[in-house]
Amino acid sequence: MRTIAILGSTGSIGTQTLDVVRANGDLKVAAISAGKNIKLLEAQIREFRPRLASVWEEEDAKKLRVAVADLDVKVVSGMGGLIEVAVCEEAEVLVTAIVGMIGIVPTMEAIRAGKHIALANKETLVTAGHLIMPLARKHDVKILPVDSEHSAIFQSLNGEDGRQIEKILLTASGGPFRGKDREFLKGVQPEHALKHPNWAMGQKITIDSATLVNKGLEVMEARWLFGTSLDQIQVVVQPQSIIHSMVQFTDGAVIAQLGTPDMKLPIQYALYYPRRRYLAGERLDFAAIGSITFENPDIETFLGLKYAFEAARTGGSMPTVFNAANERAVSKFLHRKIAFLDIYEIIRYCMDHHKTVENPDVIQILDTEKSVYEMIESRW
Ligand code: NDP
Repeated sequence: MRTIAILGSTGSIGTQTLDVVRANGDLKVAAISAGKNIKLLEAQIREFRPRLASVWEEEDAKKLRVAVADLDVKVVSGMGGLIEVAVCEEAEVLVTAIVGMIGIVPTMEAIRAGKHIALANKETLVTAGHLIMPLARKHDVKILPVDSEHSAIFQSLNGEDGRQIEKILLTASGGPFRGKDREFLKGVQPEHALKHPNWAMGQKITIDSATLVNKGLEVMEARWLFGTSLDQIQVVVQPQSIIHSMVQFTDGAVIAQLGTPDMKLPIQYALYYPRRRYLAGERLDFAAIGSITFENPDIETFLGLKYAFEAARTGGSMPTVFNAANERAVSKFLHRKIAFLDIYEIIRYCMDHHKTVENPDVIQILDTEKSVYEMIESRW
């Protein structure tokens, strides 16, 4: 029986991780953590019986302690609580399904404690890939990608020599506004952007898919995970989301992973790696699909991808600026404080006004995040 801990058990990836646990019956959940949703966390504690649970606010922790007083579970809070979950002794694998840069420190602590990481949290590698990958190597810990594209690349590389990668072909659906122009994008409201054509995901990542920022973040993650240069990563739009990504090798062969858009597949693959397990659900019917089409991304309209490549090429603290500026801009867009295209304007402004720090440590990364938020709040 494999034992896991989950950061962000109440979110989209977190609840689907628990669906996988429920369906298999031979995974044990030692510790879980949530932000604010203590009602769902209580239900999860009752069903999965972890020995440790964490919430962000101590006030919520107090309420939860009363609610689960009949159970043998310790309830903790804050960053200390997240770290306690991350390093919890029984767990072999930590699923990082928390959203935001708050996931970096607990993930690093988990690596130091020798836990394998089932990585969903994008911010970890985007902002701290230069720290995380060497740390994982030092502690002989596996970083198992949960994101569907990176899992597809990881699966395509199985049994292959990673040094023979010529190119990573990262596929993108193009989001709900594929084919639209900037004039159209001016009028876009949150409810339009939250309708992803193929995938059901958390709110922030759904907006990031509409701006192509998400694909940019994935490019940054891929270069760290698979040790390639940025020039070896090509984004290809494949609107049906059937091919989850591909690898082209030095002999010209291309290996791809295909499947229905179901996050439970990459989650389960990471949890049981290197074994495959039965997973219920729809199967691809190629005759019914008929055709799979490809096109280049429109990076002049959807500037998220263009700015991401620029931030990644600059390196140092610039990917943190890109990520933090986007995070705050998306939050403002969801609260109807800014327009859709302002997301790009905010990212551009912050990147233009930042002095890059080479090789930032965690404190410098978090300071950069804070200064970007201050920059945005003073202007928007
Ligand atoms: P959600 O918004 O659905 O869930 C986020 C989780 O983080 C929730 O459990 C939330 O708790 C928790 N959380 C938020 N703030 C805090 C905090 N301060 N302290 C503790 N926990 C906190 O996000 P997703 O599941 O969509 O995404 C999670 C991560 O995975 C992101 O980095 C995303 O980019 C990445 N990802 C997601 C994919 C998807 O299909 N959804 C695919 C690939 C990657 P609560 O709700 O209780 O407040």
